[in-house]
Amino acid sequence: MDPIIKIENVNVVYNAGEGAKEMGALSDITIDIYPKEYVVFFGPSGCGKSTLLNVVAGLERVASGRVLVAGRDLTTLKDEEIAMYHRHEVGFIFQAYNLIGTLSVVENIALPQMFDGKSRREWLKSAYTMAERFEISEHAKKLPQELSGGQQQRVGIARALINNPAIVLADEPTGNLDSKNVRRVLDIFQDLNLKEGKTLILVTHSPEMLGEADRIVYLKDGKIIDEVQNKERKLLKPKTEEEKKLASSDSAFPWKRFLRDAYVPASVKSEKLAEFVLGVPSEEKVARMEGLIEKRLQGILNSQDFVAALDRSYYRGGSGLDKRRAKHLGEYTEHVLKVARVIRRISSFSEEEQVNVITILSDNLLQTLRLSLNEDQKELLRNLLKDRFANRIGPNEVKKVLDASLKKGGLGLRRQTAVRVMEYIELAILIASKTPGENGEVKKNTSIASSKAEPPLLLLPPPSP
Ligand code: ADP
Ligand code: MG
Repeated sequence: MDPIIKIENVNVVYNAGEGAKEMGALSDITIDIYPKEYVVFFGPSGCGKSTLLNVVAGLERVASGRVLVAGRDLTTLKDEEIAMYHRHEVGFIFQAYNLIGTLSVVENIALPQMFDGKSRREWLKSAYTMAERFEISEHAKKLPQELSGGQQQRVGIARALINNPAIVLADEPTGNLDSKNVRRVLDIFQDLNLKEGKTLILVTHSPEMLGEADRIVYLKDGKIIDEVQNKERKLLKPKTEEEKKLASSDSAFPWKRFLRDAYVPASVKSEKLAEFVLGVPSEEKVARMEGLIEKRLQGILNSQDFVAALDRSYYRGGSGLDKRRAKHLGEYTEHVLKVARVIRRISSFSEEEQVNVITILSDNLLQTLRLSLNEDQKELLRNLLKDRFANRIGPNEVKKVLDASLKKGGLGLRRQTAVRVMEYIELAILIASKTPGENGEVKKNTSIASSKAEPPLLLLPPPSP
């Protein structure tokens, strides 16, 4: 899919050539925006959000660079062509509504069509249709100042949409509204984007609006410093090579992967965002996810609430993981918890029970990691587990045996597989280990220590891939 908006190396300078008053507002901005995409430009006051939006709207001339909208270069258009473009191809919504106080509500809505020289009959008809759609028709003949803020903003939205533009631009459109009207405006935007397929660019400096969009573009000091895809929404921007690799990579051992690769997008890891005080740093998201896992490990969350919390968006207190990953991580956690509970009790078992339990644990491990071994290798793995659980050997010896060739008395696994097996074992041991402050074997409500009526250990179903 080709971008509908292509901004290439754009610079905007205010008061150019006026010495000390000269002010670079945008510096080397390059970004593609795709049809039907909902993008948020986010950043602190003065970072250039409005300037960038005005560039897309054709309201601001650039000092250098190109601005292509639907294949046309705005920087080469004449003033009248720009005015036409602005009236027909984009709809612009302002924070301060920008309504004309001496015109009635319906006349304000009709303005773009009046400029087009449409007949009174024509513009009245379309303006009333818009007024009805946004539930302001009963106020059609009033002046804007007789309306509430929320109603005035709906007049602004109606005016922006009267010529049915493909692109809608909104500059802090909810900045002057109470929370009920904020939600109402955001719902209108969701409908415009999802039901009508409009490309939408929203400018904001309030972090609570970030969850609304497909993609968030972070600005600082006139530059794009990062962008983040909202995993709960549609992906329209083509994936980069790095993102493709991540999507297809083997995820049999998810813990490190979740924390290191898949969950925290590479772009979010960059130092720039961490420095960016107004945003929500990625570290905070990882911390949130870890906090949820911790609550599950302590038994504060039950398995259902845990998966539900993982599934919830970051801005509603969840982990911000997408559904599939949330389910996957949830299943792994439950799986590892069960294994850990058994490991914790293993020393209290009789010799015979230990043999049984280790057989089941080892089969579980093979299933979970999707490994198949012959009988000799299985026997070796069971002995390895037994020695490791009894702490007779450490993780490195486990890895060495897993890694060593069959001839040398090892399991003959490929190095990467050996590392995964070792990590799985160590993770289960780690989870089974006691947490500081956890005294004695049984702590009320503590899921890892709930050894009382523990059901017999069965072969667990492997977590879904
Ligand atoms: P934002 O919308 O993110 O608050 P703006 O795009 O309005 O930021 O402004 C970016 C920078 O350009 C700011 O430093 C601002 O003071 C400056 N600026 C904006 N408009 C003008 C203007 N018309 N003349 C001079 N400087 C301007
Ligand atoms: Mg602004």
